[in-house]
Amino acid sequence: MPTKRPPEYEFDLTGGILCLDFANTISRREDPEHRREHLAGYADLAAFARQSGLFSPNQTNHLCAYAERHPNQALRTFHKAIALRETLYHAFSATSQHQSTATDDLQQINDAALEALQHRFLALANGGDYRWEWLWDEKNPLERILWPVAQSAAELLTSDKLRTVRFCEAPDCQWLFLDHSRNRSRRWCDMTSCGNRQKARRHYRRTHE
Ligand SMILES: [Zn+2]
Repeated sequence: MPTKRPPEYEFDLTGGILCLDFANTISRREDPEHRREHLAGYADLAAFARQSGLFSPNQTNHLCAYAERHPNQALRTFHKAIALRETLYHAFSATSQHQSTATDDLQQINDAALEALQHRFLALANGGDYRWEWLWDEKNPLERILWPVAQSAAELLTSDKLRTVRFCEAPDCQWLFLDHSRNRSRRWCDMTSCGNRQKARRHYRRTHE
């Protein structure tokens, strides 16, 4: 009997930029008892990429099938992705606290961004415009997931948006996000989930304690 896959996790893409969404693929990171990892293998990476609009459904199927045929390559790419995610989390947590990025983290992002650049090319788009596209490296197509994430991190580090990176104040969330609010005072990654939960909690404390 074929093994039944668990339903696909719906990633919460509220970070405001790809690299932060990717850093947020662990829930309750700082709470060891309730910490939840949402990336368990290459199929999860591909699902994240598809939900983020990086891969089309066809590309996702193609890459997942390739990953199943090349498990060692898939595992190597997966470990590389997790290492990149941890680097991004450390780097942007530091910037959210107005600290500079650790030299090691910066080096890792630099290396990943340089690798990404080697797989970029200018393509003619509809209407005569040009846009950047990612190469299909048939020797290792799986790493394609890493390039746009690395590129997004390099762009964030070098943009004014870096000053708007925030850490969600809900203790059971702690995700990173870009604060686009006018007075730069957003405290929660998402008002409807974390914001309302925190307000309800405060209300409960006020009325019950
Ligand atoms: Zn939150």
